[in-house]
Amino acid sequence: MNDNGVSEKEIFAFLDETKARDTTYERVLSAMCTHPHKIAVKAHMQFIESNLGDFGLFPGTHDLELEVMRMMGDLMNGPSVHGYVTTGGTESNIQALRAMRNICNIRNPNVIIPESAHFSFDKIADMLEIEIRKAALDSEFKVNMDSMKSLVDEHTIGLVGIAGSTEFGQIDPIKEMSELAVEKGIFLHVDAAFGGFVIPFLKNPPAFDFALEGVTSIGIDPHKMGLSTIPSGGLLFRDLKHLHHLQTHTPYLTVDTQYSLTGTRSGATVAGTYAVMKHLGNDGYRRIVDQCMELTDMVVAGAREIGIEPLIEPVMNVVALDVPDADLVRKRLREEFGWQVSITRTPRALRLVLMPHLTTENIELFLHDLKFVCNL
Ligand code: PLP
Repeated sequence: MNDNGVSEKEIFAFLDETKARDTTYERVLSAMCTHPHKIAVKAHMQFIESNLGDFGLFPGTHDLELEVMRMMGDLMNGPSVHGYVTTGGTESNIQALRAMRNICNIRNPNVIIPESAHFSFDKIADMLEIEIRKAALDSEFKVNMDSMKSLVDEHTIGLVGIAGSTEFGQIDPIKEMSELAVEKGIFLHVDAAFGGFVIPFLKNPPAFDFALEGVTSIGIDPHKMGLSTIPSGGLLFRDLKHLHHLQTHTPYLTVDTQYSLTGTRSGATVAGTYAVMKHLGNDGYRRIVDQCMELTDMVVAGAREIGIEPLIEPVMNVVALDVPDADLVRKRLREEFGWQVSITRTPRALRLVLMPHLTTENIELFLHDLKFVCNL
C-alpha cells in the first residue's frame, strides 16, 4: 500500500479508466446476471453499512430480511418458509446439503444430482464429505428418473432437482422427484437459482416448488433474474429444523446464534432485494420475463432462418444452438464482433442467455454476425 493517501480525484480517475476495461452488458449473451434495477441500487446504498452477521444491531434490516423471505416463500408456494438471504446459488446449495447432512447424521452419506447440475455441487463434494452421485440426462437434458432411482441406496440422504439448468434452461421432472423423495423419506433440494424468478412467470409453468410435498428446500437468486444487487441469493426451507441444524453459537455478538455460511453478511443486498421485489411485483417480473422470452423466440426463429436449430425448444430464456464447431464460432464471435457467448459441455453447442439487458436491435445484429461467422 502507498505511504501517503491519494486524492479522491486521482482515485476516481483511475477507477474510471479501470472500469472502462470491463465488459458492458450489451453484447453479453453468456451471463445470468444483469444490470440491477435502479431501485435495488438505491436501497442497497441506503443500507450499505448494515451487517446481518450481527443482526441484533440491525433489527430493521433483519425485519426486511424476514419480509423478503415471506415474499420469496409466496413466490415459491410456501406460505411459511424459513431461511435467509445468501450470497447466491453456490451458498444456497452448500447450505441446503449441509443441513441435510447434519439432520441425517449418518456415515458416508450421498446425494443424487443430475449431470446438468451447476459446478457448485463439485465444491460441495470436496467440502462437505458428501458423496455426490450424478444421474444421467434424457434426450431433453432433464434428469432421467430411472438413472436417478438406480443410484439411490441406504446412504442416500437427498436428491437435487434443477429448475432452470445453467446450460439449457431446462426443468427437471421435479414432481416425479418429489414422489421419489416422499417414498424414500429423503430430502429434495430444488436449485432454482436461475429459474426461480422466471418459471412462475411463464405461460404454463410446471410444478417445481413447495406446492410439491417432497420439496424440502429451494435456492432462488435475486441477483440473477430477480434484478437485485450482487451478491444476493435466497435459501428457503419448508421446515424450521433445517435452519436449526445450521446454527453456530456466536458468543461475542448481540445474537447467540448464526445460521449463515459467512459471518459478516450484507444487509444492503437484502434492502436491494426487498425494494426491487416490492417495486416490480408479480406484474413487473411477468413483463420482464415476457420480454426475455420474446428475445428468445426471436433468436430461435432467426437461427432457424439461417439453418441453425436449437438443441431443445427453449423452456426459458436460455438457448443452446447446434452450430458446427461451436468453439470456433464462439471465438470468432468474440474476437471479430465482441459478442460474449458460452458453450455447453455435452454436446458442445452455442449457449445464449437472453437477459433483460438485451434488446431486439442487439439480437438482430447478433444474428447477422452469427450468419457471417457460420458462413451461411
Ligand atoms: N445454480 C444454478 C442453476 C446456476 O445457474 C448458478 C449460476 O449460474 C448457480 C447455482 C450458482 O450461483 P452463484 O454463481 O450465484 O453462486
